[in-house]
Order: sequence, then C-alpha cells, then structure tokens
Amino acid sequence: MNTNQQPDIHLNLNVRGLPVSATLAINERSNELLKEGRQVYKLGLGQSPFPVPQPVVDMLKVNAHQKDYLPVKGLMELRNTVADYYRRTQGLDYSGEDIIIGPGSKELMFIVQLVYYGDLMIPTPSWVSYAPQAQIIGRQVKWIDTTESNKWLITPEEIDKECSKDPSRPRILILNYPNNPTGYTYGPEQLEALAEVARKYKIVVLSDEIYGELHHEGKHISIARYYPEGTIISSGLSKWCGAGGWRLGTFAIPRTLRWLLDKMSVVASETYTATSAPIQYAAVSAFKGGLAIENYLWQSRRIVKALGTWCADMLIEKGVGVERPMGGFYLFPDFEPLREKLEKKGIYTSSELCETILNEAGVAMLPGSEFGRPEKELTVRLAYVDFDGARAITAAEQIPSEEELNGEYLRTYCGNVVKAIEKVCDWIG
Ligand code: GLU
Repeated sequence: MNTNQQPDIHLNLNVRGLPVSATLAINERSNELLKEGRQVYKLGLGQSPFPVPQPVVDMLKVNAHQKDYLPVKGLMELRNTVADYYRRTQGLDYSGEDIIIGPGSKELMFIVQLVYYGDLMIPTPSWVSYAPQAQIIGRQVKWIDTTESNKWLITPEEIDKECSKDPSRPRILILNYPNNPTGYTYGPEQLEALAEVARKYKIVVLSDEIYGELHHEGKHISIARYYPEGTIISSGLSKWCGAGGWRLGTFAIPRTLRWLLDKMSVVASETYTATSAPIQYAAVSAFKGGLAIENYLWQSRRIVKALGTWCADMLIEKGVGVERPMGGFYLFPDFEPLREKLEKKGIYTSSELCETILNEAGVAMLPGSEFGRPEKELTVRLAYVDFDGARAITAAEQIPSEEELNGEYLRTYCGNVVKAIEKVCDWIG
C-alpha cells in the first residue's frame, strides 16, 4: 500500500467525501483554463474587483515591521475602532471588549459553531461554506426554505415553523444581507419581524454583514438594532475593502454572549494564535473611515449598482428569472423558464447548466445546488466582478456624481462582465 495515499477509512467521517469549497475550486479551475489559453470570463469566485483603498495600503507599508504576536482577541486599538465604527454607522453600543478579530470572518464562523452547541439554521439558498462548516464540526443543519417570489428572503413564519417543533433547542441562525448568492437584502420592517421571532426562541443570530457597505444605496441596517442581545455581527475587510487575500474578519458580540467570545478566543489561542499583526494595524485605518474611504465606497457602490442592474436587465430580456440586485456583487438567476429549451440541449440540472455554459460560452459561474438548492432547479450564481476596479473607480470619478454610469461606461470599464453576460445571452439564443 502506498502510505502517501490515505485510504478513506482513516478519514474523519465528517470530512469524508467533502470536496474543496466550490468558490475556490471554480477560481482555480478558471485560472487553469486561462493558462491553457482558453478565454474564460471569471464570474465564479466572489472576489472584490476593487483595490484596497490607498490609506489602508499605506498603513500596511508603515507597519510591515510589526513582528510580535498580538493579543488573541485582536489588537486593542483595532477592537476599539471596530466598536466605534458600529456606533458611527449603526448607532450600536459596543465597546472594544465586545469585538474579536480573526484571520477572516470564515474562520470566526467556524469557531463560533465549534464552541456553541446547537443546530445551525441556514436559509436556502446560502453561501457555500456555512453547511460544510457545520458538517465538519458535526452539527445538524436545518435548511430554512425561501421562495424566489419573495426574493429568496427568510420569513419569521418559516423560522417559527422550525423552532416550534422543539422551542428550547439551542440554535444559531445565519442571516446574510446584502445576500450572497442573491444580491437582495432585508428592509427595516423585515428585520424587526425576524428579530421578534429570534427573541421568542432565544436564537443566536449570526448576522453576516460583510456586504453591508456595498448596499447599493448605502442604506444597510443591522438586525442588531432590533435584537442587540442575541446578534453577532460578522464582517471584515474582504468585500467592502477589497482585501480578501489579507484575511481579516471581525465579530461584534454583545455582552450577554461574552462567554461565547471568551471561549472562541480559547480555541483561537490553540489554533491560529492571533491574526497577522501588520494587517491588523492597517485595518485600523479602514474601520476609522474618513473622506478617502467614503469616496471609495461611494464609487464602488455606484459601479456595482449600475453593473448589477445592467446584467439583470439583460437576463430578464432573455426570459431568465431574476430581479435587479440591491447590494453586493452577485445575481442568482433562475433559468427555469427556459427549461424546455435547455432540456433539448441535454441540460437537466444546475451543474450541467454551468458546465455547458463554461464549455460553450467560456463563462464560469456556480450552480445553485452549491448553495443548498435542489440539483434539478436551474438556478446559478454569478459574481459580476471580472473587471479592473481601480481603473473603473478612476474613470467613475471623472463622471459627475448625479449622473448614472451608462452602458458605454460599463462596456469600457467593466468589459469582461459585459461580454460575459452577452455571451450567456447569445448562448441562450
Ligand atoms: N465569499 C466568496 C464567494 O462566495 C469567496 C470566498 C470564499 O468563499 O471563501 O465567492
């Protein structure tokens, strides 16, 4: 027997058969195809197209020499700055003691599930990693159904239906808005109603607000305003600050759940030790905000709003089920109305749909089945991020702020996304 090849039998049952995360796998596959000389439009991985804002890059340079291990829960100055950020942007009352910093919010999500003993409730569709994380740890996943006609948003009735089966059971509910994969978000009344049912069942709400600053109108509201005692707000630098590869995530955890934060830091101390020091110093300037960051965010929102609207409108014209997005940089189109046509091409599942579009049109996307949707439903996620965000921001700055970015702008500065959508539309025929 070749000892380098571990037979399955020696693998922990929870990870047996688990593949590499779909978002990362599609990115690596797209890069391989590009290397082979194939034309590939990368709408697979949801990576911010925008650069890290200059003041944040400058702070990283200045702090490159920071070599010491930092405190497990994070640099105190950064924790205080994140608390101030939530006071300033959401009117929430956190102190630095309520904040924990980690190497990406994904890692913090993993360890909170590890230390809290409860079921994980997630809406379908949901981001690709929530359910596998629960599976690795050995937690039960309860999928909460949503409907396309309600923009795939979770309702208090659905939560009530699940929780009333066993009212005192401990549970974490993941809410994510603006949403990955759908691009839709919740308004204040919807959040208030969700808060009410969460309070009724003492649910820990893990509110993944990493796309909050990319709400297309700049009007993101946290559910922590309505359910402060039971909400953990998750965020980080990856999406709104263009720094996915820097790996910095934040959790804001209310005093009532301090025991959870403390235990998370025990796990952190025994696993990743502390988050990278230079990155934490640089992150202070990102969360402090200021004019340069505000301008950067304003232009980022303006661009993703114009581009997301354009993509949705093009697909709607072709009869695909989708609406204009409200935040972030994703669309979750439903090709169900075209089923008859697609079946003639031998396409019956979302995976077959994505595979064929990649092979025949060169556009990489992810099947809805990766997001917890039934394999036979013809939904896909596309990330409209394949463009040079630095160039796009510089050009947008030259266009008066009251003007919308038009088709000509999008074609010039977000060309690959425009071409990709045109390819998909041509492919539909
Ligand atoms: N969140 C991004 C996505 O959904 C990519 C990063 C990741 O999945 O870890 O595509």
